[in-house]
Amino acid sequence: MSRDPVMTSDAAAALIMARCDELAGISAMPEGILRAYLTEEHRRHNALAARWMVEAGLEVWQDAAGNQCGRLEGTRPGLPTLVIASHLDTVPDAGRYDGILGVLLGIETARRLAPHASELPFAVEIVAFADEEGTRFGATLLGSRAMAGTWDAGWWEATDAAGISMAQAFWDFGLDPEKIHDAARAPEDLVGYLEAHIEQGPYLEAAGRPLGLVSSIAGARRFKLTILGEARHAGGTPYERRRDALIGAAQAVLDVERIGRDRGVIATVGQLDTRPGAVNVVPGEVEFSLDLRAESDTLRDSAWDEIHAALSGFCTQRRLELVIEEIHSAPTVSCSPRLRQALAAGVAETGDHDPITLYSRAGHDAMAMAAVTEIGMLFTRCEDGISHHPEENVLETDVALALQALERAVWAVAAEHRE
Ligand SMILES: [Zn+2]
Repeated sequence: MSRDPVMTSDAAAALIMARCDELAGISAMPEGILRAYLTEEHRRHNALAARWMVEAGLEVWQDAAGNQCGRLEGTRPGLPTLVIASHLDTVPDAGRYDGILGVLLGIETARRLAPHASELPFAVEIVAFADEEGTRFGATLLGSRAMAGTWDAGWWEATDAAGISMAQAFWDFGLDPEKIHDAARAPEDLVGYLEAHIEQGPYLEAAGRPLGLVSSIAGARRFKLTILGEARHAGGTPYERRRDALIGAAQAVLDVERIGRDRGVIATVGQLDTRPGAVNVVPGEVEFSLDLRAESDTLRDSAWDEIHAALSGFCTQRRLELVIEEIHSAPTVSCSPRLRQALAAGVAETGDHDPITLYSRAGHDAMAMAAVTEIGMLFTRCEDGISHHPEENVLETDVALALQALERAVWAVAAEHRE
């Protein structure tokens, strides 16, 4: 088959970089870049994305969750769909590329596929998910969970900082909460899901590779841990009489890091609250968080068992009590061998025949989409691993390579596809 792209991948990469800047410009707040769900910025970036999708040859619509979609029909209209997507929303004071780059790479991939769409045994849809970060309502992956049909009815009551409920925000945006299920896709209508995303970590840069294949997306387990001791007068209580909960928590923080490093899992204590929290009182109670993630659930769960044992042992020695509450648990999601192979063929097209494979330490829309279809993810190198920060940066040359890889990956999926 002959393929002559509308523009070179270098020119397309320059366009993508300029559009990342344009989106950053329309969502510049006094406190930095912010695009939150169901806001004026959301409306404006959907309109821009829709315009770019139309220019690329796609038929466009906004779905019932506010996701911006664009479709390229294959050999004939109405075939099952290969979705290429990421998100357009951001965290507060965000960078320019997290999510956005994946959407714009999708649009340019579609533009390159469009002249040859009659050879595609499936339709291709580019989706700009409206909420991945959960910045406004706390709950995350809202756009992709609507599409996966796993929307949680409890979210309607969630409120933003101004007290506006999710349901009200839907109405204000011109969406009907009653119709949320229209956004859901059936597994039989999907061929698979591909997502390109900045790595948000330093591994590709350290390895000198522009692109990497994702093996799995780590599912986190989160705990609220409380160590109970006894609050007593700091002056009047000798060491041997103390049951200092903060000593236990301090040891716990160190144990968490030690075991995390030993086991090759990511273990983080991000919050710690000491009570009563007075300068002259031995701490009687400390509550702290634990976030655990790893390449596989088995690895993560065995690390937790070891952390649990270490903390229990130490607390017993110190006559402290350990109270454990698990507040979140998500399974690790694996990328499918079929789509990993297709992306490997894509990366090979860029000259890298032995691509680096890594697992995603951060959550992505692909996790939600795994509930309805097979997923594959491609990471692009980002400078110094910085993300969720204004200094987030990527190389234009890497963007050009990612585009070549994605386009090739779609043809690789097509070559293996059985109707
Ligand atoms: Zn993201």
